[in-house]
Amino acid sequence: MITIDTPLKSKDYRSDIEPTWCPGCGDFGVVSAITKVMSELQLDPDNVLTISGIGCSSRLPLWLKSFGFHSCHGRALPVAVGAKLANPDLTLFVTIGDGDMFSIGAGHVPHSARRNFDMNVFCMDNSLYALTKNQTSPTSREGRKGSLNPYGNLDKPINPIELMVTYGATFVGQSYTGNLKHTTEMIRKATLHKGFSYITLLSPCPTYNDEETFKYYKPKVYDINEEGYKDTSNRLKALEMAQKAVEHLYNKDAKVPIGVFYQSEEPVFNTKLDKLKTQYETRYGSAVKPDWNKVFDRYKA
Ligand code: SF4
Repeated sequence: MITIDTPLKSKDYRSDIEPTWCPGCGDFGVVSAITKVMSELQLDPDNVLTISGIGCSSRLPLWLKSFGFHSCHGRALPVAVGAKLANPDLTLFVTIGDGDMFSIGAGHVPHSARRNFDMNVFCMDNSLYALTKNQTSPTSREGRKGSLNPYGNLDKPINPIELMVTYGATFVGQSYTGNLKHTTEMIRKATLHKGFSYITLLSPCPTYNDEETFKYYKPKVYDINEEGYKDTSNRLKALEMAQKAVEHLYNKDAKVPIGVFYQSEEPVFNTKLDKLKTQYETRYGSAVKPDWNKVFDRYKA
C-alpha cells in the first residue's frame, strides 16, 4: 500500500464526472465509503486501481479520481489478477455486481480467492440485474418476479458468504450500504487486510427492487461482531454463521447479519511468486533469463 504525506480529503478522491445512478440508489453509499477510506488511509491516488465488470455497480471507477478499468461482463477478476501480477504495490478495488460476479463471472471467483491475491472485492448486491432492466440474478429469492419471469423465479438463491469462505478468501464480510458508518468500517478493514478480501454490500435498487429496500433492511440488520461473534479465524464457525446470511430469503422474520465472518493471515500469491523467482535466481543466477523463444518452439507443430 503506497501512501502520501499530504492528506487529501475524501472529496479530493472523487472525479468531476456526475454519477448516472438513479436518485436513492444504494451504490452511492459505496463510493462515499471508498473515498472516505482512501482519505483516512492517505492512499496515493496514483497507486489505486479500481476494476469493474458490467452493470450499474460497475460504473463506480468513473466517479473516482484514481486509475480505473471498466472491463467486460464477468471479467473484472482476471483483469485484476493481471494488474496485481504486473504491479504488486497497487491498492486494488474490484467493484462488481451480484450477477456479474456469481453468474457469468463465477468461474473466475474460486481461483482468484484460493490464490489469495491481495485485492479487495466489493460485490454490490441488489439481488437482480438492474442495468438490463430487472432480471433475476443468482442472489434473487425464489419466487421473485422479474421482466423475464413474470410468474416468479424458479431458482434458489446462492449464498455468497458461504461460497467465499469455501473458496479460500482470507477476509469475508457483509455490510449494508444504508449504514455508511458500517460500510466504511468494513471497507477499511478489507483494505488493511493483506490478502483476498471479499465483502457483500447489500445495496438496494429503488428502481427495480421493491422487496429488499432500505425499509426492509433497516430493522433487520445486526452486527455479528458486536453481538459476540469474535472468533473470526475459525472456518467451521464462519460457515455456520454464513447460513444466517440467507435465512431472511426464506423466512420473513429472520434478521440479516453484517460484519466480519472470516479472516485469516496467509501468504499472498505475489509473495509465493517472489520466492519462486529467488529459487530460480539462486539456481541459475539473476542474469540468466529463460529463452522464451526456445520454450515457445516446443509447442509449435
Ligand atoms: Fe441503482 Fe437500480 Fe438505478 Fe441501477 S437501476 S442505478 S441499481 S437504482
